[in-house]
Amino acid sequence: METPDSRGSISKRPVRKRVASRNYDENLMDEFIEEHLGGNVRKRNRTKQDLEKETETEAMIAISLGFPIDDLLDEERKAGVVSELDGKEQNDYIVVRNHILAKWRENVQIWLSKGKIRETVSGEYEHLVAVAYDFLLHNGYINFGVSPSFVSNIPEEPSEGSVIIVGAGLAGLAAARQLMSFGFKVIILEGRNRPGGRVYTQKMGRKGKFAAVDLGGSVITGIHANPLGVLARQLSIPLHKVRDKCPLYKPDGAPVNAEIDSNVELIFNKLLDKVTELRKIVSGLANDISLGSVLEILRQLYAVAKTTEERQLLDWHFANLEYANAGCLSELSAAYWDQDDPYEMGGDHCFLAGGNWGIIRALCKGVPIFYGKTVQAIKYGDEGVEVISGDQLFQADMVLCTVPLGVLKRRSIRFEPELPAKKLEAIDRLGFGLLNKVAMVFPHVFWGEDLDTFGCLNHYSHRRGEFFLFYSYHTVSGGPVLIALVAGDAAQLFECTDPSTLIHRVMSILKGIYEPKGITVPDPIQSICTRWGSDPFSFGSYSHVRVQSSGSDYDILAENLGGRLFFAGEATIRQHPATMHGAYLSGLREASRISQSMKVRQNNPRKTVLKNSGPSNDVLEELFKRPDLAFGEFLFVFDPFTYDSKSLGLMRVTFAKSNDELNTEMSCGKEADIMSQHLLNPPLQLYTVVSREQALELQLVKEGSDCTLSYLFKSLGLKLMGANGLGVLANSLAANIANARRGRGRNRSSIAQQNAGNSSIQLP
Ligand SMILES: Cc1cc2nc3c(=O)[nH]c(=O)nc-3n(C[C@H](O)[C@H](O)[C@H](O)COP(=O)(O)OP(=O)(O)OC[C@H]3O[C@@H](n4cnc5c(N)ncnc54)[C@H](O)[C@@H]3O)c2cc1C
Repeated sequence: METPDSRGSISKRPVRKRVASRNYDENLMDEFIEEHLGGNVRKRNRTKQDLEKETETEAMIAISLGFPIDDLLDEERKAGVVSELDGKEQNDYIVVRNHILAKWRENVQIWLSKGKIRETVSGEYEHLVAVAYDFLLHNGYINFGVSPSFVSNIPEEPSEGSVIIVGAGLAGLAAARQLMSFGFKVIILEGRNRPGGRVYTQKMGRKGKFAAVDLGGSVITGIHANPLGVLARQLSIPLHKVRDKCPLYKPDGAPVNAEIDSNVELIFNKLLDKVTELRKIVSGLANDISLGSVLEILRQLYAVAKTTEERQLLDWHFANLEYANAGCLSELSAAYWDQDDPYEMGGDHCFLAGGNWGIIRALCKGVPIFYGKTVQAIKYGDEGVEVISGDQLFQADMVLCTVPLGVLKRRSIRFEPELPAKKLEAIDRLGFGLLNKVAMVFPHVFWGEDLDTFGCLNHYSHRRGEFFLFYSYHTVSGGPVLIALVAGDAAQLFECTDPSTLIHRVMSILKGIYEPKGITVPDPIQSICTRWGSDPFSFGSYSHVRVQSSGSDYDILAENLGGRLFFAGEATIRQHPATMHGAYLSGLREASRISQSMKVRQNNPRKTVLKNSGPSNDVLEELFKRPDLAFGEFLFVFDPFTYDSKSLGLMRVTFAKSNDELNTEMSCGKEADIMSQHLLNPPLQLYTVVSREQALELQLVKEGSDCTLSYLFKSLGLKLMGANGLGVLANSLAANIANARRGRGRNRSSIAQQNAGNSSIQLP
């Protein structure tokens, strides 16, 4: 996260990184490209000078998207996009790559096809077009997002494999859409009853005067190369640049003297510069020294910020830094706290009109999300993955875990096998801090229409982060909204303080500032205090590099396990942690890794998922010759060693009718389509895992087999599978029952035992 300085420029290191003052307008990009590339003119028909100019312009566009001007990305090198580095081939590749990027930026609404690129690049570069296009597509640099026109590019029949995504925040949603477009079967399991995770836009106010207020992630921090800017453009959502002006007020409400303000800001930046110098001299500060302690030593050494006002101002800047990092300075690593600075997105910082919900809503479209599914356990192994939520078990080829670092720290999810020590240690080492907000809707804007931010100093150092910064959202939220931020130590205390006391304190600050100016401060129509620290689906706000940790810990968090268990989320992306765009990019990254991993597996039959190689038909045939329960076309077999109503068994249903007949009869059940795929050669036998209890419930449905099937799908939520599609659980059940019947299988598999009572859902 990055923040405004007292004059409103936004950065972790305010003074040196003041942003351009002009308003950012995504549409200017269209004009720029049109002007320089001249629409659809074919590259091959242009003069040498035209081509050179065009190549230069395309290089500039590539730079604005985060690509080096005349070099490959590390990822490109790793992907082996050229056979020889630093030669002519690499130069040509870069020109082609930049051309594709520019073409994509020219119109992000439309799916850019390889054919379209071929129209504008000479045939001799055909090979490079293919390589560059595939690299950019599979790594999420082009054709990502929410443009409605992309829907037609999602394969109707997913064929690549199945992925369960845990968490419907930006990372999970980005990955889901990308994987679906790659041809994967995807579902998201989300613990909350809403999508978006730490991006949460709340409707506040009263009827006829509602405002959309972001209680979590709100500012798009740097619009250049920012994928969220692309999404906003695809959705035609206007962006509002956060303006530079940010007056500061003393604790009594009087304005801070402008000269003292800029002096202290300079001191603050010099202190940070000294920390950087010290790091170089000492060749890396010791890992266990905090930024807070180094800053305090330096402050005393240089005897700066000695008066009360100066000290309070310096504390304000410290609070601002604690906001940027969601961590107290005493927690941040002096050595690595700013390790992501070189990757900061350029350009203006913006709010999205109507709040970030616009993006979340669009990302959810067409993605199968199951809400209220808190995941308790994730099992992963050579044969696939199983994810347990309450009494349901989901199976797939791979799982992508996007839960916040706070959730991983609490060990709220059980991993089987346990995560490796290296990952657990990184989880413990990295910091996950707190930022809270008080959001207030007023009857009118009393603070001035020309302001997006203003700040207030605090009497006490330990409370410096309490309501230190106010954001005005009246330009984008649809109502007179102010948000007061609470960072650092104060954010912790905030969570155990009564909301009415908190609102009273904010209001005294606002009255202290505005009433002496003759402005009456009205009571808010509605106010909300966030509690991100006690939220069981987050346990904090965002990550930071804590003492004893470093940027490499983000990389460790991102490592996948055995090509089965993958991780995304803001705390897995070293270059852009703690941000919304970082979360989104991590989702795209993992979609690409999952896709690559699947390709490797497909090329290596020994590693292919075993879910299709269940018990042989002979074993199943043998088992169902002696069913434990039978009625109509339904046969059941159970473990003979337990009569527990929750114990699991297998059900087989036989369809002896034609495809058409069955389709008509089954149309009441939503699984009819899936089933019809299997009904090519009747009689057809399909299976599912059921508990004894569920089998008895089915037996009680008296109206015939159609209704029994309908009950199976709709009321029990079960799905039928072919013998070849039986998952890990069903396979092990079949094997165990067969063994038990032979009288030698008393050691039942742990999977079957632990999941007694679960219903099982397998992604086909
Ligand atoms: C107060 C606040 C202000 C912020 N301000 C900004 C800002 O201005 N700009 C910016 O760029 N970033 C900001 N951020 C950070 C940004 O919001 C996050 O980095 C980003 O949204 C994280 O996305 P994610 O997908 O990684 O995680 P999340 O959005 O947290 O998604 C993870 C999902 O997993 C779900 N989940 C958790 N546990 C389970 C479980 N056991 N089973 C099933 N589901 C589970 C959660 O409910 C959640 O939906 C802010 C964050 C906060 C809290």
